[in-house]
Amino acid sequence: MKKVEAASRSALERAAREASGKSYAPYSRFRVGAAAQVPDGRIFSACNVENASLGLSICAERAAIFQAVAAGCREIVTVVVYAPTESAVTPCGACRQVIVEFGPKADIVCICDSEDRIEMTLEALLPIPFGEQVQRNATDRRAAKDER
Ligand SMILES: [Zn+2]
Repeated sequence: MKKVEAASRSALERAAREASGKSYAPYSRFRVGAAAQVPDGRIFSACNVENASLGLSICAERAAIFQAVAAGCREIVTVVVYAPTESAVTPCGACRQVIVEFGPKADIVCICDSEDRIEMTLEALLPIPFGEQVQRNATDRRAAKDER
């Protein structure tokens, strides 16, 4: 892992673990915490928040990234996700898609209650993301409109 120094990585992991303590997961009882680091070193952490209408629930990773964006950060370099399990758990598909919007080159670190961990790039987790075509189409439409 090149982008994150060891001290910073342990702070990220601590933040993700602490955030899981705030999890609101009365339905799944799956208490997840995540921490996202931006280029200037700031860490934004969050937990999953469930809802009785389950589709309205949000994962810890997305909650953390949205906090970073709300603080004005548009680039994510590392995401740590902690789950209170024996095996490390990777971000779900929705979270991978949200991470790619702000951190297409992000490092992803998945930790749990054992020594098991998964460290990989988002590119490896989501090799062909949705979105580039949409952005290209939007750019093409703007260019076409400017030509009129
Ligand atoms: Zn997710």
